[in-house]
Amino acid sequence: MKNITIIGTGYVGLVTGVGLSEFGNKVICADIDNDKILKLKAGEIPIYEPGLDEIIKRNVQNNRLLFTSDISSSIKNSEVIIIAVGTPQSDSGEADMQYVYSVVNEIKENLNGYKVICTKSTVPIGTGKKITNILKNNFKENSDFNYVSNPEFLREGSAVKDFLWPDRIIIGTSSLIAYEVMCDVYRPLYINKSPINHTSVETAEMIKYASNSFLALKISYINEIANLCELVGADVHDVAIAMGKDGRISEKFLHPGPGFGGSCFPKDLESLSSISDEHGVQMDTLTAAITANKKQKKQMCNKLENLVTSGLKDKEIAVLGLSFKANTDDVRESSSIDMINFILSKGGYVRAYDPIANNSMSNLFPNISYFQNVYEAVDKAQALIVMTEWNEFRSLDLNRIRKIMSGKFILDTRNILNMKELSSLGFVYDNIGRLKI
Ligand code: NAD
Repeated sequence: MKNITIIGTGYVGLVTGVGLSEFGNKVICADIDNDKILKLKAGEIPIYEPGLDEIIKRNVQNNRLLFTSDISSSIKNSEVIIIAVGTPQSDSGEADMQYVYSVVNEIKENLNGYKVICTKSTVPIGTGKKITNILKNNFKENSDFNYVSNPEFLREGSAVKDFLWPDRIIIGTSSLIAYEVMCDVYRPLYINKSPINHTSVETAEMIKYASNSFLALKISYINEIANLCELVGADVHDVAIAMGKDGRISEKFLHPGPGFGGSCFPKDLESLSSISDEHGVQMDTLTAAITANKKQKKQMCNKLENLVTSGLKDKEIAVLGLSFKANTDDVRESSSIDMINFILSKGGYVRAYDPIANNSMSNLFPNISYFQNVYEAVDKAQALIVMTEWNEFRSLDLNRIRKIMSGKFILDTRNILNMKELSSLGFVYDNIGRLKI
């Protein structure tokens, strides 16, 4: 059991803090956003993540989980400090590291005794070395540290499960002492022989980028196959199922869609691309995945325009699903943003509904209409677009929708609606790469 501070209480920091307290550690979740901390102290969860609520309550009650905005004291009182602040994309494509380095300086000011300094944020390869140098500079007496890179692989929407039952844990460090401390931090998993991989810092940093980029590449690949299926008369659903049965390929991440979004894939691809440029290495596969994804988002807008042949001007369009994927309130880089911008640019009106993400999207689009359920959103709409694969959209009452919509156009960018039913009800529909019925 260790005393741990997690700095940054966002999607990753909060889940990590809660997960590590569930493993028996004493955890302080620290953030500069005082409103967030006040909410957490009051028992409110600032993000939507299935299962998070009850596990937070349990660990707070057991005194293993605290929230604070007093970052310096929490650093002083912990043996392990985990950095989990954001590393968003900067205008030039690289990761914006200002939040990480501001935390590193705060750690430097508050080093006392021995600490393991661990980065969980996704950071460019070579960051560990830079952080170590900053911390070594102006080294205080009686203080010592070892550095660890411990990238995170959780997926929003199933983050709690992913954290508690990970496929692998990467501990990148040159220090055996720090490695043992981290094994202790993850002790219940270690005992269960969950695969802990001990690597160098740079290797750990690379594993994260290489993994995310590969998954993004796989999505772009199946999206392109889907687009070609439409032109050659093949069905991408059957193609993906058959491909997935090949163990070398696997069925995961073979679902065509409106282009990937979220806070990770787009920025991590751009960041790895910048790193490879810096080293004079041209990574053509990365560039292709990025370009294909941008095209896919545009392709969805073209599909809508081709479907509603009379044009979008003055038309009411229902957009179902705003988050970048199901089971999260996160709208960062969501394809819905491109779609909404497109509809507005063509003079249409957006009637938006998401089971969880209406609020997050209203920060970006305060002037479109938001509804509390599907049927209010589609009421008198000329067209309906499914943008996110929420479970509730898989079982829509299409009969009712046909009656209350004023038009008959449906664009299913997730291939979750029943084509037979759509046809029999007289909808004019489109989806991604399917043979129409
Ligand atoms: P986030 O934006 O949800 O949270 C970041 C938090 O850091 C915010 O609460 C912010 O207030 C806080 N913060 C910023 N500066 C701070 C400072 N100086 N001191 C204390 N707190 C500070 O970000 P996130 O989605 O949790 O991502 C965090 C990192 O984890 C990123 O590098 C991301 O790439 C990586 N990651 C994210 C996911 C994911 O699914 N979201 C998965 C794996 C890895």
